[in-house]
Amino acid sequence: MQNYAPRKDERLSISNLLGSPLIQRAFEFINDARQELDDELVRICQTPAPPFKEQARARLVARRFQQIGLGRVRSDEEGNVIAERPGVSSKPRIVVSAHLDTVFPEGTDVSVRREGLRFNAPGISDNACGIVSLIALARALDAGHISTEGTVCFVATVGEEGGGNLRGVRHLFTGGELSSGVDAFISLDGPGLERITHKALGSRRYQVTVKGPGGHSWGDFGIVNPVHALGRAIARFASYPAPLAPRTSYNVGIIEGGSSVNAIPERASMVVDVRSISSLEIDKLETYLRRVVEIAVREENSQRAMSGTTLTFDLEQVGDRPSGETPVDSTIVRAAIESSRVLGVEPRLDCSSTDSNIPISLGVPAITLGVGGMSGNCHSLAEWYEPVGREIGLKRLVLLTAFLAGLVT
Ligand SMILES: [Zn+2]
Repeated sequence: MQNYAPRKDERLSISNLLGSPLIQRAFEFINDARQELDDELVRICQTPAPPFKEQARARLVARRFQQIGLGRVRSDEEGNVIAERPGVSSKPRIVVSAHLDTVFPEGTDVSVRREGLRFNAPGISDNACGIVSLIALARALDAGHISTEGTVCFVATVGEEGGGNLRGVRHLFTGGELSSGVDAFISLDGPGLERITHKALGSRRYQVTVKGPGGHSWGDFGIVNPVHALGRAIARFASYPAPLAPRTSYNVGIIEGGSSVNAIPERASMVVDVRSISSLEIDKLETYLRRVVEIAVREENSQRAMSGTTLTFDLEQVGDRPSGETPVDSTIVRAAIESSRVLGVEPRLDCSSTDSNIPISLGVPAITLGVGGMSGNCHSLAEWYEPVGREIGLKRLVLLTAFLAGLVT
């Protein structure tokens, strides 16, 4: 009977794993699978996954999970797809995930155009290539007849991008299927090999709306104007001295309001994005934002007091991504560094906003990795991906998963 129960100190080291014939067999699969992975990439990318409408791609991934023999394939209430590759026991429980959604709205042409090595299509690198590697990982483990001590969960999440506000992963970890008992979480997001994201870049988004009675630009001149007030608020907000360390940023990304050049608007609004490695800095910026809007509205109201009209405002939080950090000396980060190095990749520790924000903020060891390959023009219609070095990304993932889940020898 093979009954290998790896305690921390008994685990095979990453370099020992590299010498295992099982791992080598998985690597052979990866070396030979190039064409199949390219085909999978095109199939995934050409199945649209607009924000909040990931169903078609989710169904495709569920079907693929079934076809490759993963266990208990299912979708949860939020739309995430979950499957399992059972181990000898249920612990440790390792989750490998990739997000399904793209930033592109419904109706975007997602057909893939090939130019030599290059694949051109919106969403091809963020995150069709991540989904491809998620599927390929399960296939490589099977090809190597790799059996693990613990269970590996394969998860395709919804709502990672923008307005999705991490809704998929948030649901999984707060009330959903990953609410307890997750020992490690790996998110596969985008290309590249060097980046190991272990710090979660926190962000908050706000919608600020200023309202007044509105009127005619000539006939009602003298009443309060929401656009004028908002303009003042933006001017003040944009002068905030954001610290370089901890790195902090802010952006007024959208302004809206008004209907005609000769009408005093009834309404003006802006959407603001605030980010920082430190949640304290985000709190400070939120306080500052509220204050500048208050001041701007008060100024407009007092300047136009003779008219008897007043503005009101509303500041609503429309997005929240918590910050945090998986320690550099944690098993998952050390193993990710080591599995990169044995494959000749010198990794770089990184801070970013990804699906891992949620587990990290809850104290679950989590990292986000690129899957290899190169890309450009991400989040634009001219997005492209070249799978150069994808094999290394996949091999690293096999090593890391086998290490964390415990290879049964
Ligand atoms: Zn992404």
